Amino acid sequence: MPARHTNSSVIACLLMLTVSLAFAQDKATLAIDAAFPGGNILVSKIEGDTITLGPDKRDSLLPWFYWYYRVTGASRRKLTFVFSKDNVGARGPGVSLDAGKTWKWLGADAVTDGTFAFTFPAKADDVRFSVGMPYLRADLDQCLARHKDDSFLQLETLTKTRKGRDVPILRIGERNKKARYAIAITSRHHCCEMMASYAVEGLIEGALADDAAGRWLRANVEFLVVPFMDTDGAEDGDQGKNRAPFDHNRDYAVAPPRYPEVAALKERLPAWSAGRPLVFLDLHDPALRTDIHETVHFLEPEERDMAARMDKLCSYLERDQQGPILYRKAHNLHFGAGYNTHIERPSPLSAGWARSLSNTLLGCTVEIAYANAAGCEVNAHSGKELGRDMAVALMNFLRDAPENTATK
Ligand SMILES: [Zn+2]
Repeated sequence: MPARHTNSSVIACLLMLTVSLAFAQDKATLAIDAAFPGGNILVSKIEGDTITLGPDKRDSLLPWFYWYYRVTGASRRKLTFVFSKDNVGARGPGVSLDAGKTWKWLGADAVTDGTFAFTFPAKADDVRFSVGMPYLRADLDQCLARHKDDSFLQLETLTKTRKGRDVPILRIGERNKKARYAIAITSRHHCCEMMASYAVEGLIEGALADDAAGRWLRANVEFLVVPFMDTDGAEDGDQGKNRAPFDHNRDYAVAPPRYPEVAALKERLPAWSAGRPLVFLDLHDPALRTDIHETVHFLEPEERDMAARMDKLCSYLERDQQGPILYRKAHNLHFGAGYNTHIERPSPLSAGWARSLSNTLLGCTVEIAYANAAGCEVNAHSGKELGRDMAVALMNFLRDAPENTATK
């Protein structure tokens, strides 16, 4: 039946035309970019469906591994991304299908020597990939919005950055009461180390929680939290680690400090703590791979009294932790072990500077693995839960260790 045959042919031709037009359209609009907060990528080659790319080192003195890019116009395509194997973490890349709001690890099995493939779903207009799970000012703002009516939380501006951005600083505690203890939490001295930010958020939420630990903390402690010690670097997507001529966490022995955040904190923190017993924790992520880095570990201070207090805090954390990341005290780096050998005086590091204050009970660095903490998955949820557990440990440390009230 010729008429019917003709109709089928026309329909088939139309279908082919539609498919090829859609395909051509997809091909035509495929784009990879980093022009958004936290973005960082260098694309060196695109050959068909294979893209070779790597981190943009910018002003870092040594190669580093932070990258965060967006793929648009790749619906229904399967693309292969080729990185150097040193630039992809223990659970593969972080992938976000909602423009960076939520993240999942693609998985270790999806990666071979730094190369991974991804099949883009239909209508995937903005797919993000990163070495981690980026945490930016917008993420902090979402956390703050959840607590906007909380009278125990105050958002202030520590200072302006070199590029004119506001540096947020949070105060948590009873407004009209001078709390007995002071706890200062800092993060992102190395701006790329975003997984630490989830633990910072957990600490904030732990201090604000309507539970026994939260209530005790608010009655006895005032918190000062600086979530982004390198605010420009975090928003601009810099590495930050080993930034030339030195990075934010090597700025504490310089007079005057090079970075406005460091200068402001050095002025603000001693005045704010006002002689109260002070705990200072500076949260970081370590290097990307190898056993020593794939754990949560505290760096033991050189000072023996502080080392003993750190041990006590860590005992509480190990004993009482509830979250999915199983912290083990045995993973801590004793002074003199591994890379914990810093002995410059005065210390250029934030924790070393904090330890030099006369009212400091304990000042130390905490390292949180990017993706794999001794077999436990690090992600937004588990990172926050670790922060909650740290808040409880801090409460126990201050509440149950009366000798800690005697400062040096
Ligand atoms: Zn760091």
